[in-house]
Amino acid sequence: MSRSKGGSSVIDRLNSRYADEEAICPECGYVDDEGNWRASTNGRRIDYRHLCPSCGKVRIRTVTLRD
Ligand SMILES: [Zn+2]
Repeated sequence: MSRSKGGSSVIDRLNSRYADEEAICPECGYVDDEGNWRASTNGRRIDYRHLCPSCGKVRIRTVTLRD
């Protein structure tokens, strides 16, 4: 982590990379540019759900929040 000037944090970079990979449905290969992930949280973690508009597969990503 030696080049981090200019505002883009590690988390920002992770998020954008994540979004690119997550845009592709592992089931049918559909690329959802909209990235329709819906987030819900219970305070300790965030659940992201994505419904593929092509094949209907539901994907869930859970991110645990650190305290
Ligand atoms: Zn799909």
